[in-house]
Amino acid sequence: MLDTPRSVRLHIAIFGKRNAGKSSLINAITNQELAVVSPVAGTTTDPVFKSMEITPIGPVTLIDTAGIDDEGELGELRVKKTKQVLAKTDLLVLTIAADSKPNQWDATVLEEAEKRCIPVIGVISKIDIAAGEEAIAWFESRKIPYSLVNSNTREGIDKLKEIIIHHSPKEFLPETIVGDLIQQNDIIILVTPVDAGAPKSRLILPQVQVLRDALDAGACVMVVREHELKAALDGLKQPPRLVVTDSQAFDFVSKVVPADVPLTSFSILFARYKGDLREFLNGIKAIDTLNAGDKVLIAEACTHFPSHEDIGRIKIPKWLEGKVGGKLDFTWVVGSDFPENLAEYKLVVHCGACMINRAEVLARLDKCKELNVPVVNYGVMIGYVTGVLNRVVKPLEK
Ligand code: SF4
Repeated sequence: MLDTPRSVRLHIAIFGKRNAGKSSLINAITNQELAVVSPVAGTTTDPVFKSMEITPIGPVTLIDTAGIDDEGELGELRVKKTKQVLAKTDLLVLTIAADSKPNQWDATVLEEAEKRCIPVIGVISKIDIAAGEEAIAWFESRKIPYSLVNSNTREGIDKLKEIIIHHSPKEFLPETIVGDLIQQNDIIILVTPVDAGAPKSRLILPQVQVLRDALDAGACVMVVREHELKAALDGLKQPPRLVVTDSQAFDFVSKVVPADVPLTSFSILFARYKGDLREFLNGIKAIDTLNAGDKVLIAEACTHFPSHEDIGRIKIPKWLEGKVGGKLDFTWVVGSDFPENLAEYKLVVHCGACMINRAEVLARLDKCKELNVPVVNYGVMIGYVTGVLNRVVKPLEK
């Protein structure tokens, strides 16, 4: 269970004002001393992530956030981080201490959750020191399900888990990455270039996830480097049902794989699985209207590993500037940093997003949509500039 990537777990974020008892609540839910607990308001500075299993939901990540009502310089940083957590939240637990009054900050959290269509449940904590009448009335008037909790004795935790199970979004991830495109006993080939940029002694996460998903679907999977692809194809009695390649090898692989064999890429599959393939395809039109000097944002969702250095910093700028016929003004962001002010960009080019969850990718896409900024992902963009886009999205058309 602990090996399930965080990016495919349900993310449950615990929100509330400073000293609402969020860290104690997480400890009570997980039955561990995980989060720092202190009677001093504002102990939690960075969000803390904890993995656990909640049956029957499966693997989840609990996020202990900083209080959203923080003030001052450090407080502003906490608020920024807290908002970044909202972007990856699938289910929000709003905690109000029984001895405090719900106020504007609690209402702000609700508003932010509503804007993002995140389901909210309530916790009234510290019921050993007060009855929490005002918080009860506040949640009930808003029809928010809640549990009364004493984190010290774990009273109310079972009820809270039941509410979490009942209100968790059922379809927070599509069920499969590739399984709906193949059938039992189909042969599929995964092309995984092993160049200087590949990590030593292992495959990367999207490759591993597609491999596992195809095995779960009952397919026979061959994994080859691009230079062994022809030998693999020649050795088969019948053509494979599907070839999945790294997008960077589109040009080479599309020439080796016969035109009637379906071909796609890990990044295109992830555009559908983690985000919205249609939205990325819409963004493609913007490439043709780019002019020299236009601002382009390249967003990578984790502190990237070396091969992405090459693709994000060198290859993509080169491809785009080749299309435009002049210099573009690039900005790069990595990890959780995704700018609020996107309006100045003519195009956003996003990585495959294998390390972040679907909620966060969709929040980023929503932000682009809201500001009318076209967005593509690496696979879609590389497919377009190498002239194989129609071919590589065709297997996913249904
Ligand atoms: S930069 Fe994006 S695609 Fe690359 S490893 Fe990180 S999250 Fe995955």
